[in-house]
Amino acid sequence: MARAYNFNAGPAAIPLEVLQQAAEQFVDYQGAGMSIMEMSHRSALFEGVNNEAQALLKELIGIPDNYQVLFLQGGASTQFAMLPMNLLKAGRPAAYVKTGAWADKAMKEAQLIGETVVAASTESDKYMRMPSLSEIVVPSDASYLHLTSNETIGGVQFHEFPDTGDIPLIADMSSDILSRPIDVSKFGVIYAGAQKNLGPSGVTVVIIRDDLVEQSPKDIPAMFRYNTHAKASSLYNTPPSFSVYMVGLVLNWIKGMGGVGQLEQYNRDKTKLIYDAIDQSGGFYRGAAQTGSRSFMNITFRLGSEELEKLFVKQSEAEGFVGLKGHRDVGGLRASTYNAVPLESCQALAQFMADFQKRNG
Ligand code: PMP
Repeated sequence: MARAYNFNAGPAAIPLEVLQQAAEQFVDYQGAGMSIMEMSHRSALFEGVNNEAQALLKELIGIPDNYQVLFLQGGASTQFAMLPMNLLKAGRPAAYVKTGAWADKAMKEAQLIGETVVAASTESDKYMRMPSLSEIVVPSDASYLHLTSNETIGGVQFHEFPDTGDIPLIADMSSDILSRPIDVSKFGVIYAGAQKNLGPSGVTVVIIRDDLVEQSPKDIPAMFRYNTHAKASSLYNTPPSFSVYMVGLVLNWIKGMGGVGQLEQYNRDKTKLIYDAIDQSGGFYRGAAQTGSRSFMNITFRLGSEELEKLFVKQSEAEGFVGLKGHRDVGGLRASTYNAVPLESCQALAQFMADFQKRNG
């Protein structure tokens, strides 16, 4: 069986071992006479799956005891709204770091709920860098500070996080969760759609500190309240059971890889191959993001002309590469190198880039 060199931005590559394990268990999960998708979410078997996935996430990320892990639906986009619905207080603005398309979308949703302020913006640099910590200014009465740890479209990533004291720091980690160690205790809430680093789409992970769970207002619908889901261990209503099961398998795979610290090194080795191919091309390839803000998940780069970029995409597809076309909003090229993208795919891409340059340079 030939596997594509999959550089999709999300949904994205899932480890082959995980897919094979799921295939083996697909029709009959642990002798139940049915698949995961067919069993009650109240059954002991599914509760085991749910509990194990939560426990593994806590173990792998090092989540302190005063945080809850929630598995929700609606994607990270629903969190853009749910966060301010739960945590944006009247008369206390929510501060947003504007670093690209996703941060922007998050802030626009909050504006429907209450007052927002821009704590820092890199718009004047076309979102091709992350702000330094000293650029981020948070009003002392802010409800929270929201940032996007990795901008999937621009290919820029925070490599350090601000210390916000008593003001909750909230991060959309949709495109870099579990790709490197983080200190959860710096954050009030971390959220991420699963479909990049954690498994298939359909489930969104929310890691939330206990005192913030308690703050959910009572006058918003139950499904949008964090404490509804926290109280029910994410089984308030029917969960996306197959996606949760797949996330559990991916987390076990990460554990087998040696954990998040090992994965960080692996991701750095992978991206180095491609950034080197860009930097050593004598200007044939140009990295889109400023060097200090480069992402270890989404590598964005350009060629001399749009025609050449189109040719690159076409020829790469003919050689088994998938997903290298940049996001339609920014153009150019993008290689997403999430946890499950193997080193071999990155080696093949670096080789293809060198060959393409020889043919067209
Ligand atoms: N935030 C970031 C950083 C993303 O990359 C994406 C999806 N590409 C989203 C939010 C939106 O996620 P979803 O499609 O799960 O709503």
